[in-house]
Amino acid sequence: MTIRFRVIGSGSNGNAAYISSSDETLIIDAGLSRKRIVNALLEDQISLDSVIGVLISHSHTDHCRGLPVLCDTIRDIPIFGSEGTKEGLYSYKRYDPRWRDIGRSCQTFSFGNQFSVRSFDILPLRTIHDTKDPSAFQISINDIKISIITDTGKITKEHLRSMNESSLILIEMNHDIEALKSSKRPIWLKKRIQASHLANSESSDVFKTLIDGSTKAVFLGHLSGECNSPNLVGSEVRRWHSENQSSWDWYICKRDISGTVVRFDGQKVKTEMNPIDLTKKSSSNVSSDKKIKLDEFFK
Ligand SMILES: [Zn+2]
Ligand SMILES: [Zn+2]
Repeated sequence: MTIRFRVIGSGSNGNAAYISSSDETLIIDAGLSRKRIVNALLEDQISLDSVIGVLISHSHTDHCRGLPVLCDTIRDIPIFGSEGTKEGLYSYKRYDPRWRDIGRSCQTFSFGNQFSVRSFDILPLRTIHDTKDPSAFQISINDIKISIITDTGKITKEHLRSMNESSLILIEMNHDIEALKSSKRPIWLKKRIQASHLANSESSDVFKTLIDGSTKAVFLGHLSGECNSPNLVGSEVRRWHSENQSSWDWYICKRDISGTVVRFDGQKVKTEMNPIDLTKKSSSNVSSDKKIKLDEFFK
């Protein structure tokens, strides 16, 4: 079976992704407009009738703001979140009764307890973030595992285990630490960002644990607009690849442009765009058999 995975948007402007099997589609986060989410599905010939649920990682605007209109478009779509997320959705905009309905209908999960939505098995993992009960996910379909780990100040043992078992990984590379330090943001905000989001160097530290794992592709997301850039992320990952042995592909998710569709059959990752082989451009100590690919998610 081939699954499709697409990061529709990633970053403080809004987050959403989907995983689709032949006839079932799971949306992860709905922090983009209904138009952007629905258009991505339709562009990819995914029927809205195939959508079996939306997982919400936490109730920050950039992960949930599209829910009311999405729920109007895809009627009775089941929503899943932690207890804290359910509360957060319920009280999100008190003047708008649609949020109370969403909060009421949100089905809750508990961390470390796997649950199923049709053929998808979902393991919610606690993250370290500045809201109540934020979650990362390990999602399994058939024998394919995908980890989605963003909005966390720290990588936990559970995150590492999940990533090690996963073929596809979406991990945040939120900020470059020097860019954050030299930004004009107030000190309290810099501290808050450091405590609740991963720096590029912290995420690349995780890569060493993936060397012998089953990782096929890593998606680098939730880039800060002010304190990061695709170039900074690219150079961090290239540096890591040039110093270490690894065979997984990597993709940078741009803030405002949807990523390409990735197909995965359990063995090989295929994208509909031609990946750029960065080995041609990078330093000579990258061995020729090491194919590092960068998807031009950005213009
Ligand atoms: Zn976020
Ligand atoms: Zn957040």
